[in-house]
Amino acid sequence: MKYQLICGAEIHVELNTKSKMFCGCKNDPFGADKPNIYTCPVCLGMPGALPVPNKKAIEDCILIGLALGCKIAKVSKFDRKHYFYPDLPKGYQISQYDEPLCYEGLVETSYGPVRITRVHMEEDTAKMHHAVVGGKKVSLIDFNRSSVPLVEIVTEPDIKSSEQAKEFLKKVRDIIRTLGVSSCDMEKGSMRLEANISLSPDGNLPNYKVEVKNINSFRFFANSLEFEYKRQSEILDKGETPVQETRGYRDGRGTVSQRKKEGAADYRYFPDPDIPPLVIDDAWLTTIKSRLPKLPDAVVSELVAAGVIESAAKIIVNDSTYFQFITKIQELDPALTKTAANDLVNKKIDSSISPEEYIKNKKAKAGEKITDETILKPIIEKLISDNQPLVDQYKAGKTGVLGFFVGSVMKATGGKADAAVVNKLIASLLN
Ligand code: ZN
Ligand code: MN
Repeated sequence: MKYQLICGAEIHVELNTKSKMFCGCKNDPFGADKPNIYTCPVCLGMPGALPVPNKKAIEDCILIGLALGCKIAKVSKFDRKHYFYPDLPKGYQISQYDEPLCYEGLVETSYGPVRITRVHMEEDTAKMHHAVVGGKKVSLIDFNRSSVPLVEIVTEPDIKSSEQAKEFLKKVRDIIRTLGVSSCDMEKGSMRLEANISLSPDGNLPNYKVEVKNINSFRFFANSLEFEYKRQSEILDKGETPVQETRGYRDGRGTVSQRKKEGAADYRYFPDPDIPPLVIDDAWLTTIKSRLPKLPDAVVSELVAAGVIESAAKIIVNDSTYFQFITKIQELDPALTKTAANDLVNKKIDSSISPEEYIKNKKAKAGEKITDETILKPIIEKLISDNQPLVDQYKAGKTGVLGFFVGSVMKATGGKADAAVVNKLIASLLN
């Protein structure tokens, strides 16, 4: 290939906290049955209304940062990012500019690492609906989404192919879902993607980039990269430089020009005077860290260590239902990990069955199997030689001691021994 594709990603994720980012309104933009029912002066941007940061949202943002290998700032702050659009009633979005909560992370992919520049906290905008009312074209605004907690993840330009992009984005989504802090539903819009794309003839970072906004699937993201590769290489082939601009993705049409890109200065960022700086002390960070669950990569390693082949382990980890199932098995009955993993991949598990039921069924089946006298006999022989006084009592006519022997065999086999076979063996060995 003549040019090296260079791509950085921006990922926006709506958190599933109970309330919004800076007010007490319910955070449920998709569950609301009417527009504009979860609103107040703060999220409607009324003059004089004061924002109060949502502690849980900040913790969730830090949790995402930790899971993506980031460093966590000791002090962080909120800034105002100004632009004018009807979905932003204050005329600015509360975001983070030069002191994000999390920075310098890394996500491994099979095509090479993708460095995470930053993970920061901001608020979502209201949602526009373009409709025709009374024969007139109108734009309606729903403020249910206004000020919903939004986490933005920004990468370094380390993505070199559409395959790598898909693997990376899927991995990030799976990690965030494992954390349980967002549904990451791209169809609904709780996860939204942007790509910064340029081409380089020599591998060095070129002096332009094209931003593709509003991408709502991994496939569309990959398509954007492939479309832009073609479009930009045709421009470069003519000895020209692609225009630095914002484009939108249209399925079937590729990317289309929207507007020339603003520089950061156009947003007139400055610290939000209504929100004091955040101090993340060690004690708080320790509490947040204690919420970190086992992440997909760690589970792959554990499954491989348990004897599961790597490709099967990856299939399990990439499926959220399988992932939850296997981590529950690991927790409840680690000895069954390999069997359960293989059963999952070979579709031998009924999708309606719970991990608890699966373990119960396996144990019941395993229990039926211990009728083998060569397994049971040595256990009973040892019990007899260890408990001579009881054997003497039995021989003296106290048959009640039989219960002790049967119970001990059951205990030694985890309840898996067949009672009839055990009784028969004990009787014959005692006589
Ligand atoms: Zn509100
Ligand atoms: Mn953003």
